[in-house]
Amino acid sequence: MTSSDYDSSNIFAKILRGEIPSCKVYEDDHSIAFMDVMPQAPGHTLVLPKQPSRNLLDASPEALSHVIQTVQKVANAVKDAFDADGVYIAQFNEPSAGQTVFHLHFHVIPRHEGTALKPHSGKMEDGDVLAENARKIIEAMS
Ligand code: 5GP
Repeated sequence: MTSSDYDSSNIFAKILRGEIPSCKVYEDDHSIAFMDVMPQAPGHTLVLPKQPSRNLLDASPEALSHVIQTVQKVANAVKDAFDADGVYIAQFNEPSAGQTVFHLHFHVIPRHEGTALKPHSGKMEDGDVLAENARKIIEAMS
């Protein structure tokens, strides 16, 4: 497999097909957003285009233009829901850059002055905590 191949058995493709559960906060025709199971801060959300691409490098301009609008929507909701000072947006391309799941996604993480982020792909969060954090984001979007 080359770095330009999309493997439809990746975990986010399974979430998009409804084969495994996620704590969803938003969905439209082109994108979906759900809680990261190993959050770097409470409210850490992932935003994905539905159109398959391995990462930013092979994504279509159409998918990118849709997904960045969802990133903005979710970032504003996350900032409100967690009363954050700012929002960190991260996106990794290929293992050398830190990518571990190979369906394009953006990390949306609320930041508070003086509070450090937890490690990337660190500790699994309790499902009830993720559900409550998703509820806050959904409420902030409505
Ligand atoms: P990457 O390193 O590819 O940018 O980030 C992948 C992210 O997916 C990590 O932050 C990791 O915690 C998260 N993640 C890994 N497996 C799952 C999963 O099964 N469900 C959800 N919701 N997030 C996952």
